[in-house]
Amino acid sequence: MSTERSACLFCKIYDGDEPTEVLYRDEDYIVFPDIKPAAKHHYLVITREHIRHAKQLTSKDKKIIEDMVRIGKEVLEERGGDLSDLRLGFHFPPFYSVGHLHLHVISPASDMSFVSLLMFRNNSWRFVSPEYVKSHLW
Ligand SMILES: [Zn+2]
Ligand SMILES: [Zn+2]
Repeated sequence: MSTERSACLFCKIYDGDEPTEVLYRDEDYIVFPDIKPAAKHHYLVITREHIRHAKQLTSKDKKIIEDMVRIGKEVLEERGGDLSDLRLGFHFPPFYSVGHLHLHVISPASDMSFVSLLMFRNNSWRFVSPEYVKSHLW
């Protein structure tokens, strides 16, 4: 295990070293609830791999973004969330909270508080949609 991995909260959650309610798990991704939910449903989809942030992704990583979106929507649907009232996005450097790539899945987006709306506003300078990331891969 690299030192980066052992120092990373999200890697620890993936590895099961940090007690967390995991809602979905496969070989490459897990989903768990955000500790500070901005709406009734607020989940984080993370990669097994320690990728620091969305700007590190390249054009060959398109599938990662698509997988994260698909899994996030599946979990939301399973848990009774509303896919038509959904906010999906990634933090964008230099503004990110935890230094491990994660997709926020928030629903109903229309229930978000003013502060949450500012924090998770689509394609603002610090939070971007999966489509934005896909169209800015290098
Ligand atoms: Zn990590
Ligand atoms: Zn976040």
